[in-house]
Amino acid sequence: MGAEETSPIAARFAQLAQTHGTQTAIAFRGDEQRPDHLFTHDFAKFWRRVERVTAHLQASWQIQPGDRVAWLGLNHELQLVALVACARLGAIFMPLNFRLAVAELQQVLNDATPSLLVHDSLHAPVAAALTGAGLCRTHLDALIASAAPRGLPMPEVPGDAPVLLVYTSGTTGLPKGAVHTQDNLLANARASQAAHGFVDGDKVLSTLPMFHVGGLCIQTLPALLAGVSVVLHARFDAGAWLDEVDASQTSLSLLVPATLRAVLDHPRWPLAQLSSLRGVMAGSSTIPAAYLQAFHDRGIPVGQIYGTTETGPVSIVLRLEQAAARMGSTGWPHAEAQVALRNERGEQVPVGQAGEVCIRAPNVMRGYWQADGAVGVGLQDGWFCTGDLGQQAEDGCITIVGRSKDMVISGGENIYPAEIENLLITLPGVAECAVLGLPDVRWGEVPVAVLVRSKDAAGQSLTPEAVMQHLQSRIARFKLPRRLVWLDSLPKSALGKVQKPLLQARLTGTNP
Ligand code: AMP
Repeated sequence: MGAEETSPIAARFAQLAQTHGTQTAIAFRGDEQRPDHLFTHDFAKFWRRVERVTAHLQASWQIQPGDRVAWLGLNHELQLVALVACARLGAIFMPLNFRLAVAELQQVLNDATPSLLVHDSLHAPVAAALTGAGLCRTHLDALIASAAPRGLPMPEVPGDAPVLLVYTSGTTGLPKGAVHTQDNLLANARASQAAHGFVDGDKVLSTLPMFHVGGLCIQTLPALLAGVSVVLHARFDAGAWLDEVDASQTSLSLLVPATLRAVLDHPRWPLAQLSSLRGVMAGSSTIPAAYLQAFHDRGIPVGQIYGTTETGPVSIVLRLEQAAARMGSTGWPHAEAQVALRNERGEQVPVGQAGEVCIRAPNVMRGYWQADGAVGVGLQDGWFCTGDLGQQAEDGCITIVGRSKDMVISGGENIYPAEIENLLITLPGVAECAVLGLPDVRWGEVPVAVLVRSKDAAGQSLTPEAVMQHLQSRIARFKLPRRLVWLDSLPKSALGKVQKPLLQARLTGTNP
């Protein structure tokens, strides 16, 4: 064990099985059969499960280097086991966003063409509805249930082998898969480890969905790679989060604005025992100051992680010890990252001015998925331009101040208006449309659709119900507009582009 592992990710877990064998790797709560039970696996057992799942993937499904293995389910410890097994085999693990509609998932599968789709019971009907040439499906329990023959030869797996494929919707409305190599994941783990300053005895509570790099790669995988224990929940629940902090004496966790608020609004928040926490990290969108203050008032600092699916994601970090002094700021680039704030001409902006955040770092993706394996698609000379606007202070501290890309963030989920607009415009009776994000107390932002009727009979008879019905089966629920606004025309620029800032101002009663 260990010496013959060529995959850098697998080699690290083989090593941890020896150095941290009896220490808890994962404690998992929320299994479909026994939802309240805390399943605990030490690093030695975690590695034995990796060996077993590797053998199963090889013997039963003939998974080869470069094959994609898709995962559709709530968080489960086997998801991490399967990821490391894929790393060993040089295969590519591909977690799917279970909040997407079948049609959206199908688009992703058509692009990535996985050979195997692993699912839990809850998502079995969706898995059955998805198709693909040669696509096999299996329940996650089958990965570990039978002892598959061992000893099949292991492939050589270099550090630049792709190991993780995560889809994100693009500004055009089409899904794009960010490809991360094993070296990318290790670099991201180094960035995360420095961001959190993991120490012996740390225990991370992970409750955000691991189909996002946020749930998977900000704390969960980096903690395990550092030999730090993870308590994993199948899904976030504010009461369960509060209870678990005390029950498992967890020291760190990651929340997004919607979950920070759910914790603050929970009736047990005022009295909950949270003294084991040395801090909470937050990200995914700008975080309301009141939430930060409420945690700080209880002596729990809230740091920040900024990044995107493409950047690993850990890129800009406000460490816990910096959090009180720089509340509301996003922080500093991690040690191996170059961050440039650029204007529309691509020039670096001076201190104090807003520019697009561009990042070059060893944890930035290798490129977007291309079936022919083309390298670097979506990057310019290794730089990824995020479409977010940042502003830098004299001391280098960066604050995210807005977005240059057309995107809405609702409860931590990205919504690209183009996706919804592309669908609305195909509906007979819709002459023009625009989707905007409007402020919302609970979700941060919610999508709102502005529609112009066509002059014909279809336009005159179009009802709100027909609009919603058109969208419901085609996009995820969280993307459905919360409001439909009917106008006679949309404000446009001289080039005919819809002027969303003007529309936004009109709907919110503010100045553009
Ligand atoms: P995703 O690709 O789903 O990880 O989403 C990335 C986007 O989330 C970024 O482009 C930002 O717009 C936003 N984001 C992530 N972290 C932060 C943060 N700490 N502060 C503000 N916005 C953030």
